[in-house]
Amino acid sequence: MSKESLINYWQKSKLITDKKIITAFKKILRENFLPEDLKKQSYDDYPLPIGYNQTVSQPTTIMIMLQALELKKTDKVLEVGTGSGYNAALISNILKQGKLYTTEIIPELAESAKLTLEKLKIKNVEVIKTDGSKGHKEKSPYDKIIVTAACPKIPNILIKQLKIDGILIAPIGPLYNQQMLKIIKRPNKLEIKNLGNFIFVPLQGEHGY
Ligand code: SAM
Repeated sequence: MSKESLINYWQKSKLITDKKIITAFKKILRENFLPEDLKKQSYDDYPLPIGYNQTVSQPTTIMIMLQALELKKTDKVLEVGTGSGYNAALISNILKQGKLYTTEIIPELAESAKLTLEKLKIKNVEVIKTDGSKGHKEKSPYDKIIVTAACPKIPNILIKQLKIDGILIAPIGPLYNQQMLKIIKRPNKLEIKNLGNFIFVPLQGEHGY
């Protein structure tokens, strides 16, 4: 597939209607985040391996998650699962004056994502080598939180680090079958919407499986 055919598919199907997400997708090149031998497959609509048994997610899945986050230019965002740094770069492009804190539990992936983001002169992203299943309390509360690994249950520790009316997007459920949940933290309750079934690599660490 090509970049253009993916964009056409999202627009025709009305799956992705948020223009700033499409603009970010056009500007940030997925090939910059892939190993040399996989660059040819950059715009195929499936996850690709990035080493250490991890993947960079399928483009359509990433777009669905980013659209659901309702990102604003000034948001403070937490990502759990930096992986290649591709999703972080897309978020960075949408944020402009905002800031993204992205956590990665595998030190080698955190290092290489950091280098890639530096090479691309992306400045509003901080990569933190840590167990992000506990969040990153130091910079909380966040406007938005995105988890790019499967969570065994609703991650209450992350919800605590969200502002009121903040949004958390995460695949939640058993291994090999999760529901993508959009959770809005209202003053006295959580508003939960199911965005469909997905399969993600498992969340590791203290609040993982
Ligand atoms: N967002 C990534 C990208 O754009 O390439 C893809 C993420 S990949 C599907 C999931 C990532 O979550 C992996 O890199 C994995 O090492 C990381 N991960 C798993 N458990 C984690 C944890 N407890 N804290 C931080 N990262 C974690």
